[in-house]
Amino acid sequence: MNTQLSEAPVREPAGDDKAPTIRIASMPRIASHPADRSRDYVVEMQDVSCYYGSFRAVKNVDIQIEKHAITALIGPSGCGKSTLLRTINRMNDLVPSYRSEGRILLDGQDLFARSVDPVAVRRRVGMVFQKPNPFPKSVWENVAFGPKINGYKGNLNDLVEHSLRRAALWDDVKDKLKQSGMALSGGQQQRLCIARTIAVNPEVILMDEPCSALDPRSTLQIEELMRELKKEYTIVIVTHNMQQAARASDTTVFMTMGEDRAGYVVEQGETVGIFTNPKNQLTEDYVSGRFG
Ligand code: ADP
Repeated sequence: MNTQLSEAPVREPAGDDKAPTIRIASMPRIASHPADRSRDYVVEMQDVSCYYGSFRAVKNVDIQIEKHAITALIGPSGCGKSTLLRTINRMNDLVPSYRSEGRILLDGQDLFARSVDPVAVRRRVGMVFQKPNPFPKSVWENVAFGPKINGYKGNLNDLVEHSLRRAALWDDVKDKLKQSGMALSGGQQQRLCIARTIAVNPEVILMDEPCSALDPRSTLQIEELMRELKKEYTIVIVTHNMQQAARASDTTVFMTMGEDRAGYVVEQGETVGIFTNPKNQLTEDYVSGRFG
């Protein structure tokens, strides 16, 4: 864990379109969600804006992601939750028209610094997608694949077992390790994807609507698993399901969008407070189901 980002080879951006712009604010700026320095943050976003071409999808985001906690991003469809999430592991760099402004610090290191290799970032910040997407390979290979390409030197069998146990899947699959991961149920496939993610020992796990394709029982299993995993990892989840955010997260970030369709953060706070005593009327209207 804690591979230094700067150990990665320097990669020059391929073209102006692909180069994330680093903008250091020249004017003093008042953060809308100032960091509480008594807390331990893994990720800090400072004045982050995200663009697809000339369209600004997300504007001026200042949020902090606390270590060993589950942070939920909620808000109406299209307000930029997934965009913001994918910025944390530079997945959006793969979209040619994408660029971002501002600073994202991972353990204090600027993710957009030129010396930072996005591949190294993705090793430290894993991602679980909406639709379970195991590789068309055996259960064992699904979990061993990442460590193998990272040159893991330890015992792969032990690592596969450990990762499957951590993902609460071992008992289901210990006799099916050679079977295709795609033959598992939807909920098992998603836990396999989580096992695959934790096999490379990331610090942060991003989850983009990880339960939206799952039945209620599998959804609760994943939520329980998240509570276990946060003891070792930091989790950021995008969810449309407000009950899920209320049940499963420690901190909630509520986003909405303005007339320019750019998403922005209305309020960040402890989940209980956001759902029972929000500071902003927009948050109250959203969490009480009056819009969105
Ligand atoms: P949410 O996750 O809140 O539903 P998204 O982050 O998916 O919102 O989308 C935010 C905005 O960015 C939307 O207007 C969406 O159409 C736009 N957007 C998302 N992905 C792309 C893309 N690859 N290219 C262009 N626009 C995109």
